[in-house]
Amino acid sequence: MEKIQMTTPLVEMDGDEMTRILWKMIKDELLLPFIDLKTEYYDLGLKHRDETGDQVTVDSAKATMKYGVAVKCATITPNAARMTEYNLKEMWKSPNGTIRAMLDGTVFRAPIVVKGIEPCVRNWKKPITIARHAYGDVYKNTEMVIPGPGKVELVYTGEDGTTMRELVHNFTGAGVAQGMHNLDASIESFARSCFEYALSTKQDLWFATKDTISKKYDHRFKDIFAEIFEAEYKEKFETAGITYFYTLIDDAVARIMKAEGGFIWACKNYDGDVMSDMVSSAFGSLAMMTSVLVSPHGYYEYEAAHGTVQRHYYKHLKGEETSTNSVATIFAWTGALRKRGEMDGNAALCQFADSLESATLSTIESGKMTKDLALITTLPNPTVLNSRDFILAIRTELEKMM
Ligand code: NAP
Ligand code: MG
Repeated sequence: MEKIQMTTPLVEMDGDEMTRILWKMIKDELLLPFIDLKTEYYDLGLKHRDETGDQVTVDSAKATMKYGVAVKCATITPNAARMTEYNLKEMWKSPNGTIRAMLDGTVFRAPIVVKGIEPCVRNWKKPITIARHAYGDVYKNTEMVIPGPGKVELVYTGEDGTTMRELVHNFTGAGVAQGMHNLDASIESFARSCFEYALSTKQDLWFATKDTISKKYDHRFKDIFAEIFEAEYKEKFETAGITYFYTLIDDAVARIMKAEGGFIWACKNYDGDVMSDMVSSAFGSLAMMTSVLVSPHGYYEYEAAHGTVQRHYYKHLKGEETSTNSVATIFAWTGALRKRGEMDGNAALCQFADSLESATLSTIESGKMTKDLALITTLPNPTVLNSRDFILAIRTELEKMM
């Protein structure tokens, strides 16, 4: 069989621990035998980030802006324990945070839906994709414990000296207070990323806030989305046959429970944090969630939503067998290959991505799966495979299809 050719490289960001092991197996068994794989390789493994003073993360983000599509392996975000474990020069920032800040992007998380792993919500038939705004609000707040009676005010002092002042509360006793902010520019990028991704995946877009109560703050989000939609996306959405729908957050939550899925739900920062955990656990497993960072300029970075699966890695290092689920990492690759194919007009590459996804799903549907899925599947008598054998089983399915 002739290998599928690529014209433009993918930006490949390698990572850490168990996912780094899976990364190589996926390439060796599921990609390289079928594709003349072109990538520009960046090693974001913690050791190499430390050696380069984290320059490699910055370079990989720049390469993503150059080529448009990246695929990333899970990486360690260092904490105190990792400082000792890897003898680090510095407690480097989260690579995802660095890349997201550089691409100014929004993260879209979607569950991989497969027969045999049934969502808790019976009527959810298609994935619900959560888009989380990743800037500001309670995550960049300023808080105060109020010790006793007194006045808390919100004061703005303009560069020209003009001031605005609002009373927050006249305290008669002890309490708490908090100040939050957001930026028009960040909300605009968030809105554009959401509209772009809705068009790219041909899915409806929902957005919800609490603008009836937060008449200025949340209302600003609603207005910015509406203005950008009217000016830049309304016609494109009509042509694509998709809709943009705004509602109150409580109404959205009620509707989501009754919906069948197949749309994108844009959430403010806190709502997205909470709702993405709810949606992913209701759909079955964190190991079955994909994640894509979409910039308002149309750059895409695909990855799994889970981490480096440290506990399994330590077992692997001890020579013990692991049964780590590689599905989300495989789907990060297929997402990136399909997007690359779309951008380059490379139908064969898109078709390969479809086939690899089908092969992965039919492997699970035939009862062969990793331990995490075997514990929750509705299929009778599943066969539990180890990390490598699961990937090999997918390869067998894929070979039948190619
Ligand atoms: P994790 O890697 O997501 O794993 C937590 C637990 O979830 C695992 O111990 C395992 O449970 C289960 N799990 C997750 N993915 C799985 C898979 N593919 N197959 C089977 N089981 C899976 O989270 P963590 O252990 O808290 O974090 C480890 C490292 O990942 C940290 O250093 C963190 O900084 C990093 N991290 C990176 C990213 C990213 O790059 N996007 C995201 C999150 C965390 P059992 O042990 O019960 O089997
Ligand atoms: Mg959370």
